[in-house]
Amino acid sequence: MPAKKTNVILFGIDSLRADHMSCYGYHRQTTPHIDRFAQDAVLFEKNYSAHIPTTSAYASMLTGLDCFGTSVVALRHRGGLPKKIRTLPEILRSNGYNTSCVGFSGNPSSRGFNRYLDYPAWGSFAEGRSPKAENLNQVAIPELERLARSKKPFFLFLRHMDPHAPYLPPAPFERMFYSGNEFDPKNKSMEPVFRFKPFCDFFADWMPPGVRDRHYVDAQYDGAVAYMDACIQRILTRVEELGLGDNTLIVINGDHGETLYEHECWYDHHGMYENTLYVPLIIRLPGKLPAGKRVAGTTLHQDLVPTVLKLLNIRTDIAFDGQSLLPLIADRKASNYSDFYITECTWMRKHGWRTPEWKLMVALEPDFHFKPEVELYNLVADPLELKNLAKKEPGIVAALKERMEEWIAKRERETGAVNPMYTNLQWHGAKTHEGPFETSQQAYDTLHIGSVGAADRLQAGKKKK
Ligand SMILES: [Zn+2]
Repeated sequence: MPAKKTNVILFGIDSLRADHMSCYGYHRQTTPHIDRFAQDAVLFEKNYSAHIPTTSAYASMLTGLDCFGTSVVALRHRGGLPKKIRTLPEILRSNGYNTSCVGFSGNPSSRGFNRYLDYPAWGSFAEGRSPKAENLNQVAIPELERLARSKKPFFLFLRHMDPHAPYLPPAPFERMFYSGNEFDPKNKSMEPVFRFKPFCDFFADWMPPGVRDRHYVDAQYDGAVAYMDACIQRILTRVEELGLGDNTLIVINGDHGETLYEHECWYDHHGMYENTLYVPLIIRLPGKLPAGKRVAGTTLHQDLVPTVLKLLNIRTDIAFDGQSLLPLIADRKASNYSDFYITECTWMRKHGWRTPEWKLMVALEPDFHFKPEVELYNLVADPLELKNLAKKEPGIVAALKERMEEWIAKRERETGAVNPMYTNLQWHGAKTHEGPFETSQQAYDTLHIGSVGAADRLQAGKKKK
């Protein structure tokens, strides 16, 4: 009898920034269990989300295509993925796999699974602490056990939501990284956060009333990551107990990072700064991949599907935009990309170009933060992207713009379609506004998250009415 094919578990963790994980060098011990997992796995040190936010990033992660290939750039993408695209669950199903999706029903980018399971993944201050990852385990562990009993191999996709606002980790994680007084009246750091009208109602729905210290809120994010890490160990333990460890490819990835207090983007994931683009990628397959390896080359979401298929020995005739990561793991190649196109379309419509040294961001319409139309950062001298050099370095801006526009033209020729960043003009989903904003004030006055429930419905597409 031939050996059972290799199973796949993909942790597609929402809003997990690589630089807040201890295995990526964060000073707080936020991910001890994932750190231990990484000792048996390959960790990619420069893995990026080129197309933020959620919908566009998962589209790329689950298809091996860039935004020209998926045509998905907006959080509120209208319609599904194009029919001609095949998603990873669709490919694996046609190769005899059972495929299950936990926590991502209704989103256009989760097409093609046999089964969709959901769990409570949000919460509010009034409801108390939100054990999102344990809620996930309550549906994911029985599903894992069911899949393990089948003769067929399986693909289990798990979308964790703990690092996504609201950050409400249960005890002891809510105090794990904070010992101060979050209500200290002398602390004014949260004032600008609550003054930001588009998000203030959302924040009021989940932050403690009267909170004044930003470091408390930042520590809730880190606490949520640490809480989730502990809960993920429960899944890894069960994988071993079921005898699946040696025959299961396990991937830990994130859709995009998160902004905490940075860049005045306040506890969300817009703005193409490093905190939102830099995401973890860790891959384990005992016997086939080295243990404890760290890969320094640049990699993108679109590389995951070609890599998974290569490891599973599944051939397709799909022309992926991404490239297998195996040559990087084998030290036969230094990097998959020298520079790449970046996009965002959640609360602002912007695109840009990132090289190892420079990042260019260009607004396609005025944004609700009143930021300049063009931003340029030197990632070597100014890794926190605090000093916009666009006015001082017009030559570099022009060169990067030219490179970006050549790339867009090339991809438009190859796909026979206009850049989706130029055609998604109702990206903001505003009922009271048609098309692009003409001023920042107009965007500021129009855009508004509302309650936690409203934010949940935004991501779940047509699932909930
Ligand atoms: Zn997301």
